[in-house]
Amino acid sequence: MDHFQYCDGQLYCEKIPVAELAAKYGTPLFIYSEATLLHHLKEIQSAFAAVNPVICYSVKSNGNLSIAKLMVDHGAGCDVTSGGELYRALKAGTPGNRIVFAGVGKSDDEMRMALEAGVLLFDVESEAELHVLGEVAKSIGKVAPVALRVNPALPPKTHVKTDTSVKGTKFGFDIDTVLEVAQGVVGHPGLSVVGLHMHLGSPILSSQPYSEGSAKAIVLIDALRKQGHPIEYLNMGGGFGIHYRKQEALPAKAFADVILPAVHQTGCRLVLEPGRFIVGNAGVLISRVVFTKESGGKRFIIQDAGMNDLIRPTLYDSFHRIWPVQPQAGLPTPPIDFESEIPDTFAQDVVGPVCESGDFLAKDRRLPLLKRGDLICTFSAGAYGMSMASNYNARVRAAEVLVTGDTARLIRRRETFDDLIAPEVDCLS
Ligand SMILES: *Cc1c(COP(=O)(O)O)cnc(C)c1O
Repeated sequence: MDHFQYCDGQLYCEKIPVAELAAKYGTPLFIYSEATLLHHLKEIQSAFAAVNPVICYSVKSNGNLSIAKLMVDHGAGCDVTSGGELYRALKAGTPGNRIVFAGVGKSDDEMRMALEAGVLLFDVESEAELHVLGEVAKSIGKVAPVALRVNPALPPKTHVKTDTSVKGTKFGFDIDTVLEVAQGVVGHPGLSVVGLHMHLGSPILSSQPYSEGSAKAIVLIDALRKQGHPIEYLNMGGGFGIHYRKQEALPAKAFADVILPAVHQTGCRLVLEPGRFIVGNAGVLISRVVFTKESGGKRFIIQDAGMNDLIRPTLYDSFHRIWPVQPQAGLPTPPIDFESEIPDTFAQDVVGPVCESGDFLAKDRRLPLLKRGDLICTFSAGAYGMSMASNYNARVRAAEVLVTGDTARLIRRRETFDDLIAPEVDCLS
């Protein structure tokens, strides 16, 4: 479900024509729909309502302060993976006790910062980290609340670069060794092992991995409690898939059906860390055609968004639906099957201005013929779009706009050339 719909031949975000926003704020432009963001947050909140979960929005999926604040204002906490994300979460007004902190390489400074903020849980990923965290906490007179992140060694579920729970990835404790490590920190003065964490990877389009992961969690929680650890939290991470190609995502309830039994059985408080599920379908990337060309027997649409704006296609071979914002009369408007032969369309590569052959939004995609100045929309770009954007090729990062009904406001201004050189200009000798 999202609030990006075609009406009278053009694309709207909620009640505003997208073309109006592109004219006002320029391109490339990320546009988010508040109603869609809240719809997805509420879908998770209601699917899991029976156990009153702590829902920690994954800041790395889209860390914009206004979006994080919207989540926090509607009852969510934040899941962070670095000191910078913790800083964002705090600036967005997240109470410390609604923040969870994951990541395999937390620095001592980041640990101190999170301890001072009073985070709910450190999702600890290795024995070395556990011991350093214990020392850092002791040195400032604190006790670190720990959830041991376990790699449950499940079969592959998603793209190799985003699958975090197959054996041999860098994430979490090996499920075969976690109990031995936990035994070694029973009664540690700087550590309180109060939870178990699993983030299985992303995006996941089946509930099966959560079912298998939960089953393993039940066994481990029981064993940890027998060692004397007061396990209060079961953190099942994020990873719920969204619609990228068609309507392929599962409703939140499908995940609840397989996770809730483990929550009931263990009596734990459930923590979830959804990012993509909330913001993915709630954002689009709007760009403008600069040129078209034919070369080497192929057609290219060169538009003004590059891999520095949306790196997912080249990094993960991701499919994003793409369609003109104002399709010519006679062309179908979405929802359409983007993988079928659409009449009056031609296989084309949608590429950006960056000097890399990996700079594309789509390859061999059936699209109508476009001309200079036409606007195109890349859908489902709300998650891991802007948060992975870079300044490569000294391109300024895009602006971001949040739409609510018939009003729109800038939530991140377009960068300027002076922003690009600001950290260097004072160092010039
Ligand atoms: C990335 C990440 C998430 C969020 O994943 P989504 O697919 O965006 O829901 C949650 N938890 C951890 C530990 C992560 O690394």
